[in-house]
Amino acid sequence: MEVRLADHFGMCFGVRDAIDLALGLAREQPVTVLGELVHNEEVVQELETAGARHAHEVDEIATQTVVLTAHGTSKRRQLRLHSEGFVTHDAACPLVTRVHTAVAKLTAEGRHPVVIGQQGHVEVQGIIEDLEECTVVLHEDDLAALAGKPRIGVVAQTTQPLELVLSLVNAMRRRYPRADIRFIDTVCQPTKDRQEALRRLAAECSVVVVVGGPTSNNSRKLAELARKLGCRTYQVARADDLKPEWFRDVDRVGLTAGTSTPDRVIDEVRSRLESMPGRDHSRSSAKQSATSVLSGH
Ligand code: SF4
Repeated sequence: MEVRLADHFGMCFGVRDAIDLALGLAREQPVTVLGELVHNEEVVQELETAGARHAHEVDEIATQTVVLTAHGTSKRRQLRLHSEGFVTHDAACPLVTRVHTAVAKLTAEGRHPVVIGQQGHVEVQGIIEDLEECTVVLHEDDLAALAGKPRIGVVAQTTQPLELVLSLVNAMRRRYPRADIRFIDTVCQPTKDRQEALRRLAAECSVVVVVGGPTSNNSRKLAELARKLGCRTYQVARADDLKPEWFRDVDRVGLTAGTSTPDRVIDEVRSRLESMPGRDHSRSSAKQSATSVLSGH
């Protein structure tokens, strides 16, 4: 089966740098990663093999050295870690740090901060934990919470689709025409590149495979976009998740991957897809020759 790759896919620089930092530290000393460093099971296992431990809460940390997630950690939490004697290494992507800076700027202008993103996602948690008040929105219904706010400052979780973010900002402006709304676009460039590349890929392939863990927001968003563009879409975490029956009627499949998916996993999925026969041409050609015999051609 032919596999067509998106122009932009897979791991971004922010995730690569975070993994390099954590692996380097884990090989030298006992280290704990606080939260998931990145949303990928294979990466978590690779870190554990290198000796890193994982903790979800500060109380569970059992080493002095702590690596903070690529998704960003609030100042409040970092201060707590320092006051308890931990030595921290921040693996936050600079494009996530940019969101924290943008929110601080909007708040300093006297605006009510609004984050367009997934409530409870670790990146959103890191942003809002430092704020006295904040509204997280993801659907138009959520905008009701902004009634009576005269000055509003809006940012977005880095991995949200730009299209969704812009439509929510426009809806906000329509609903509150008298409010002074300032929007800073903080969707990261690698996310934009992967979404745009998927649009081009979907124009060439009716079936798309997205490689990415189930907890990866940007992989999920890629799969949602592919479906919205009319492609039959399968999101898999690894090659073993692929089922040959999905591709029995397919000659060409499009392949993309989220920003936390390691190259090795993408390569394995690609080779497995290439080794699949895809559409059963023997059956269609047998049918064709039978038709030809019957019709005398
Ligand atoms: Fe940074 Fe964007 Fe990658 Fe997140 S997805 S680590 S914000 S480059």
